Amino acid sequence: MNLDYRIGFGYDVHQFTDDRKLILGGIEIPFERGLKGHSDADALLHSICDAMLGALALGDIGKHFPDTDPKYKGIDSKLLLSEVNKLVENEGYILGNLDSTIVLQRPKLAPYIQAMRKEIASILYCRVDQISVKATTSEWMGFVGEEKGIKVISTVIMVKK
Ligand code: MG
Repeated sequence: MNLDYRIGFGYDVHQFTDDRKLILGGIEIPFERGLKGHSDADALLHSICDAMLGALALGDIGKHFPDTDPKYKGIDSKLLLSEVNKLVENEGYILGNLDSTIVLQRPKLAPYIQAMRKEIASILYCRVDQISVKATTSEWMGFVGEEKGIKVISTVIMVKK
């Protein structure tokens, strides 16, 4: 179906680990722990990739960049998002806007939100006001509240070029 607008939803979870840097939204956040994963474990960029792929029914990040492929070990997720952007552009769509919520107990992300938005906008060749990044805690409940990991939820709307 050749719709003018297509909506997409993405969700990602990563576990905290002691021996990695914390990378979110393509930037390094000072914190004593990072996220476990085959790539750099940037859960925010992963959820955006999944939302954009989902909008065009192109599958998911695991289909395009399998974590069994050594090529993607430790890869910068900015490269993955850039590839996803090419895939959706090939389908004739560009990002309208995106809205993401990062759910984590610590660290506080407010000082880094603007830098993340700028970084994402530069990868997607769009304006910063098309990119919304928010953060919330889980009120000390569940795996997020227990600081075992984080989750990120993203929605996008893709617009026909
Ligand atoms: Mg992931």
